[in-house]
Amino acid sequence: MSDIVFSSRVFALQKKFSLTISRGVRHISENLIVFLSRGDKTGIGEMVSSSEKGWYTEDAISALNNYFDEHRNISSIQETWQDLFDRNVSPPAMAAVDMALWDLVGQELNLPLYKLWEAPLPCHATSVTVGADTSELVKERIGYILAHHKPYYLKIKLGLPGGVDNDKELFSAAQETIRGQNITLRVDANGGWSLKDAIHMDQWLSQKSCDYIEQPLCEDEIDGLPFLFKRRQLPIFLDESISFSKDIPVYADHVDGVNLKLMKCGGITEAFRIICTAKAHNLKTMIGCMSESQIGISAACHLTGMLDFVDLDSHLNLINNPATGTSFIEGIIRPSPLAGHGAKMILPSAEI
Ligand SMILES: [Mg+2]
Repeated sequence: MSDIVFSSRVFALQKKFSLTISRGVRHISENLIVFLSRGDKTGIGEMVSSSEKGWYTEDAISALNNYFDEHRNISSIQETWQDLFDRNVSPPAMAAVDMALWDLVGQELNLPLYKLWEAPLPCHATSVTVGADTSELVKERIGYILAHHKPYYLKIKLGLPGGVDNDKELFSAAQETIRGQNITLRVDANGGWSLKDAIHMDQWLSQKSCDYIEQPLCEDEIDGLPFLFKRRQLPIFLDESISFSKDIPVYADHVDGVNLKLMKCGGITEAFRIICTAKAHNLKTMIGCMSESQIGISAACHLTGMLDFVDLDSHLNLINNPATGTSFIEGIIRPSPLAGHGAKMILPSAEI
């Protein structure tokens, strides 16, 4: 078998709408696109960098250059995942390699990944995220989403620094904007509430036809989760508290579900373990995103037929998407029919 050849490019991806969450505002993301070529096929992967999390582009390029200088003959995706984990390579850099290898193998076998895995096609409509800190901006953002994408679910970012009264105003503005339409609202607090606020907002949102709450408690009060869980009116999902499958048993008795992300867990290989571990604990499963373009979304999309909830929308909010891939049909993110994950590059690299 031919050697693997590694290369990469950095893209600065600009959001159409800034994303405001409990920890700040995001306008742009720096994404590293990874290419793994063998023979005449090239697998593509993506890393989203984050200074907040210590996930740096330069560190990833250096670590992956070293790794592929030493490992030109890759035979096991699982062993590669473990090698990179043991070298403390950042999870999104691992994810980029992992999805590129799965893409490459899918192309070599001439099968889209969901067919390679014998997985069902996606059937659950995606949430589309609304992250804004004033009622006017919430209404403007939803107006744009309704005009362009016709979603069935909107995920409203709450837990903002303005406090629970502001959160209630934002949620009410969203409700008002979608009135009369077949759209369900979900809430992600991104760890922005105290235990007291979370108990209060769970009660309030349960009377407003909210679907579920994601990551309600701030890190300092996460020990209050069992107390909140016993009194909850709405299903509780954890996102930030769970990165890998090993994290699930710690919280399994005190949540309804987990939100996995390829960038947090190091890619598709660990995503399979998360899905199995969550189902073994009788938890609901969700897949989310973290500013990925069509590349990361295309890779994640092939898993969604195995999951209960889908939140793959970051590529919809990009001005300069570097690739083609999934389509958005009747609310569902659907995979490309091409072999592998199906994303193909369309933009040259941008200077950072
Ligand atoms: Mg979340």
